[in-house]
Amino acid sequence: MEMGAAAVLVNTSVATAGDPALIAEAYALAIRAGRLAFLSKLRAPQERPRPPPSDRFFCMNSEAISISEIKNLLADDTRAGLEDLARQASLLTRQYFGRTISLYTPLYLSNYCSSSCTYCGFSKSNRITRMKLTVEQMREEMKRIAATGIENILLLTGESYKATPLSYLLDAVTAAKSYFPNISLEVHPMETAQYRELFSTASTE
Ligand code: SF4
Repeated sequence: MEMGAAAVLVNTSVATAGDPALIAEAYALAIRAGRLAFLSKLRAPQERPRPPPSDRFFCMNSEAISISEIKNLLADDTRAGLEDLARQASLLTRQYFGRTISLYTPLYLSNYCSSSCTYCGFSKSNRITRMKLTVEQMREEMKRIAATGIENILLLTGESYKATPLSYLLDAVTAAKSYFPNISLEVHPMETAQYRELFSTASTE
């Protein structure tokens, strides 16, 4: 609506909501907000100047991207700029991974996190019980998952190096390789040498 569309057609979410009348009212409010934004003559994002793609995306093929290059990449938040960025990211993903689909089961090792992403239940500002699995608990979970025939496991933690240091992740990977031929990790950022240690632990017999 804020881009000038005259109508919207909404079905599934209204039909499947616990209270269809309430969700319909929510949509009505959102549509009215969009229409008012359009009538206010808000400057369309596409009108903002943006740097040429070749300048912005050159750094995406280099080994490491600097902070200023990241800022440059994110500077253009117009629809066309974001589409350029998504296209380049998609090309790089295909270059590194090809056209693959991985199916896996996630195993959350810990919910400690020092970040505050608003959409995430692990956010440090959420008052929830924090815990991490012991090695025995990990093994029990892994045993049950492996018994279902699943061969790919994704081990996850929140972003807390303090709660889940490299030594903890090494224990997790050591346990996981007894049950799964493929192990992936989605954990806090670490140094290259630490990733190497994890890789080498996972890949040695
Ligand atoms: S677990 Fe990940 S997504 Fe969730 S709050 Fe922490 S950093 Fe953000």
